Amino acid sequence: ESLTKKFFEEKKRSELRLKDKALTATVENAIDRRTRLLLFKFLSAGILDSIFGCVSTGKEANVYSSVAGCNFLENLEVPPNMLPSVYQQDCKDRVLALKVFKTVALSFRDRDRYIDGDIRFKNGYRKGSSRDMVILWTEKEFRNLRRLAKVGLPVPFPYYLKKNVIIMEFIGRNHQTAPLLKDVVLPSNEWLQLYLQVCRMMRIMYRDANLVHADLSEYNLMYYESKLFVIDVSQAVENDHPSMGYFLYRDCKNVCIFFKSRVEEDAVSAKVATERKN
Ligand code: ATP
Ligand code: MN
Repeated sequence: ESLTKKFFEEKKRSELRLKDKALTATVENAIDRRTRLLLFKFLSAGILDSIFGCVSTGKEANVYSSVAGCNFLENLEVPPNMLPSVYQQDCKDRVLALKVFKTVALSFRDRDRYIDGDIRFKNGYRKGSSRDMVILWTEKEFRNLRRLAKVGLPVPFPYYLKKNVIIMEFIGRNHQTAPLLKDVVLPSNEWLQLYLQVCRMMRIMYRDANLVHADLSEYNLMYYESKLFVIDVSQAVENDHPSMGYFLYRDCKNVCIFFKSRVEEDAVSAKVATERKN
């Protein structure tokens, strides 16, 4: 009898161990079973041809590069006039970015602050269910990207939304992502032009799309072919949001501090260079 007891104890322990392992795996890979199934469906439906490696593992999402499949265009719900012209002819074999929001988030931004007060999400937001919340968060990013693309702001064009996954334009070349603004190296006279680009983008966002980014910084701007692209807009709020003023102020502050540091850095290295010469 003690042997059976021992057996069951051992069995329970190993089950626990397994469960533990599964959970860790989920956290590490950020792709749970349901998400993996969803990605598999993209492949089998020909929306995607293949999914490549992870280009980024963030706190809230992983981004993968992938290639469009033969049925990619048929599955898009994009008004044809909205599709970027290069994509109208030939979508097949095009590199795409796949943003997969983690359903097991390690650190949540306090999302409530961004979602409460947004009239677009009055209904259908169930607090407590983390998966539902993540799906809503994904939808918010998709809708914000759509809105920004519509007013002509440089953003990765959002093609496809399903559950916690967004398929969007890939910013970069040959599966190699373009650098973030924080990693860009430029001669000093070009920083001013970039600063003005950001100012113009913030104005378009506010005036034409009625949005405030609310997490704008050198970490969420990509630099590609002399142009800046705004990314990571899941937390962007409508400009009638009660905390809009605070978010806008914080965005301006982040941008100013960053550009100031670059200009000062350049001034210092210029000074060192002239001193060396003398
Ligand atoms: P984090 O928590 O690190 O801020 P995140 O989960 O908020 O990340 P994003 O900021 O949207 O996700 O993207 C993370 C990274 O993935 C970016 O810094 C960028 O390097 C890469 N990336 C995002 N979107 C694209 C895209 N459309 N094309 C190419 N690379 C991208
Ligand atoms: Mn980011």
